[in-house]
Amino acid sequence: MVSVLACAALVGGCSRAISGIPTTLGGYSTTDVAGLPAANGPSGPKEGAPESPLKVEGTDNGAMDKLARNAVADIDAYWTATFPKAFPGKRFEPVKRLVSYDSAGPGVQLCRENTAGVVNAFYCSSEDFVAWDRGTLLPQLNNSFGPMAVVTVLAHEMGHAVQHRAGTVTSNDQVIVLEQQADCFAGAYFRHVAEGSSEYFRVSTGQGLNEVMGVLNFIRDSPGDSDFRDGNAHGSAFDRVTAFQYGFSEGPQRCAKMDFNDVQNRTTLFQAWKPIQKADTDLPVDQQSLDAVEKSLRAVFRDTGAEPPKIVTEPKGCGSQRPTSPASYCPNTNTISLDMSALQKIARPPNKDAAATGYGDFAAYAQVASRYALAVQKAAGLPLDDEQTGLRTACMVGAWSGLLVEDPIGQRNPVGNLRIVPDDIDEGVSALLGEKSLIAANVNGDQVPVGFARVEAFRIGVQEGLAPCSTKYGA
Ligand SMILES: [Zn+2]
Repeated sequence: MVSVLACAALVGGCSRAISGIPTTLGGYSTTDVAGLPAANGPSGPKEGAPESPLKVEGTDNGAMDKLARNAVADIDAYWTATFPKAFPGKRFEPVKRLVSYDSAGPGVQLCRENTAGVVNAFYCSSEDFVAWDRGTLLPQLNNSFGPMAVVTVLAHEMGHAVQHRAGTVTSNDQVIVLEQQADCFAGAYFRHVAEGSSEYFRVSTGQGLNEVMGVLNFIRDSPGDSDFRDGNAHGSAFDRVTAFQYGFSEGPQRCAKMDFNDVQNRTTLFQAWKPIQKADTDLPVDQQSLDAVEKSLRAVFRDTGAEPPKIVTEPKGCGSQRPTSPASYCPNTNTISLDMSALQKIARPPNKDAAATGYGDFAAYAQVASRYALAVQKAAGLPLDDEQTGLRTACMVGAWSGLLVEDPIGQRNPVGNLRIVPDDIDEGVSALLGEKSLIAANVNGDQVPVGFARVEAFRIGVQEGLAPCSTKYGA
């Protein structure tokens, strides 16, 4: 996040109307995942599933290749059945070859590239084949996220095969459009698995999909590296999860509609409002930053008419109300009390290698914003502890975030003097995929149990602003 001290000129000249983005389909409740019941349960290969006879070149016949082969067989079966309905008059043909290689072994020539050291999985469009690194990438995904992570990556690569067969992309399309569409097609396939229709795999709509979204978060573009116009952009975590959710909720037809404009209107790989040094984009958790955050919350929620809550930096009792960490909202006194050291821990920059790692500054301030959103809900007469409270809260935190973007998502005007940089929203996504965030939690700190719903509510707020937070997630 960046605090902007003198930005009257920047903000003054751009009063455009709020333009609506079409709403997504599906249910919006804590017991519903895009129309499917929310449930935890086993995810992974089905017991007693067959071994696919598909031929894999270069295979070592190990566990990773078997998993990948069964995944491709299952994805083939899905597209064989779905393709003619989604793209009338067309038939799905499996890819010409499947190739396994070991990035740590002797290199082989694939798609005009030597595979030595190439920790990747890819679709080669010029020769119509899918290849994967069984030595490093697949075991890494499997060990970090479970077997469905391998299926996720192959569903994405097969999504590229689908787009070339369906003709939903042209050679002029930007990489980001191709990548977003492949994530979307992967989401469409995962709905079929979540519905229980897959021969080989199952995935729970709770923890199972949470892990799949965790994979997309893990393979996101490094923050600040590129904006979406760059030739190598694959999407932020927000973009990738969004595309996956579109495919899951609305099916392949939604994916087919993806083009440059569609992506441009919602990507969070936007250009930062001015060139900023990476080191300058994390606000320390201190009184000065907190004042800037409070001002921005007041500005964003001013039109709701809610009386702004007091924000204090020491613990405050609240009768019988259970306190929550790192921020606690007391409805009776309309006060938010903060645990600054807990906030500072969350604000540590994410670092996969460090023992004590946080989510980044935005994730910390989003916890504060979530308690502010409770004050707004209280003023509107909404319950603070029912099933929907956490979703409304995530949506409102998303709406606040979306209004801090200088390069406006959905052509909205930025509000106040605080701006976010492209990786801030991904810090929010990471925190939402975790177990202990308040961003999608009610006044008692109970987080909405289903990650898909948490991320979806936040995303809708980012994309559409405040209005749907009460209409879609009404009490
Ligand atoms: Zn791709």
